[in-house]
Amino acid sequence: MIARRVLALVAALTLTLPLVACAASAGGYSGARAMSHVRRLVNMGSRASGTEGNGAAANYITAHVERYGWEVERDCFAYSGVNLCNLIAKRGEGPIVLVGTHYDTRPVADRDANDRTQPVPGANDGASGVAVLLELARTLDAKATAGSQIWLVFFDGEDSGDLGGWEWAVGSGHLAQRLMNEPENRIEYSIIVDMVGDEDQALYYEWSSSLWLSEELWALAGRLGYEDVFVPSHKHHIIDDHTPFLKVGIPSVLLIDFDYPFWHTTEDTTQRVASKSLLRVGHVLKTWLEDEPLAARAIAR
Ligand SMILES: [Zn+2]
Repeated sequence: MIARRVLALVAALTLTLPLVACAASAGGYSGARAMSHVRRLVNMGSRASGTEGNGAAANYITAHVERYGWEVERDCFAYSGVNLCNLIAKRGEGPIVLVGTHYDTRPVADRDANDRTQPVPGANDGASGVAVLLELARTLDAKATAGSQIWLVFFDGEDSGDLGGWEWAVGSGHLAQRLMNEPENRIEYSIIVDMVGDEDQALYYEWSSSLWLSEELWALAGRLGYEDVFVPSHKHHIIDDHTPFLKVGIPSVLLIDFDYPFWHTTEDTTQRVASKSLLRVGHVLKTWLEDEPLAARAIAR
């Protein structure tokens, strides 16, 4: 992911965050379990597309979601000489709601102050989104798929943009294009999460995201007591896995905390990620998917 207009990264975020959601779990959703996924993924080393670690992460994700009762489609394709695989976990029947994140990590820490040859650990940028979705896969109850279908999509090839001629968001671009030819797989809207684990969490509306989706999600977060973390005003403009869906007319929203000084550095480690941050985002998404009627959500289309 990259900011179109990278605002000067402030060295230290001066927001004082209140202690909301300090409980270890909410509605069965466990921040600690999500955090353990982050650790396991980071221990695999680089998960850059085409690497051994990427394959290990794909197997890890697949094994977990299958254990939780989801059907998994491996959607593999060649890009720039590399085999990329999106993992699409499906449950339910009817109109489709897509919740996505990327599981690949950036092959080099090209924003690192000291060493730009190493890969990023990708604890926040890569693992945090996967962890949030895996814990959703475990805990979503039957209400979430009463009358609709949920796809939890783990994208490959998001984070090699501008390296060796690669584009950003390759996996999601592939899926968005593919779905244009599959009228039976009409996506009502997509929700993308990326870099949501920062301990100093602050989530703003992203400029290109569908405004009605941002407003409704942030309003729900406020009702859950997270109004000081989900700030209902615009900040960054980001190219990420929501972008290809917006381009083909599918309403989409990106949940990202882009004020993260360790972005694309070797310091994007598990120490920077907090279970309470994963829990907040997971709790909002779980409540949204289980309690908000699809008709109301799709009405603005
Ligand atoms: Zn990234």
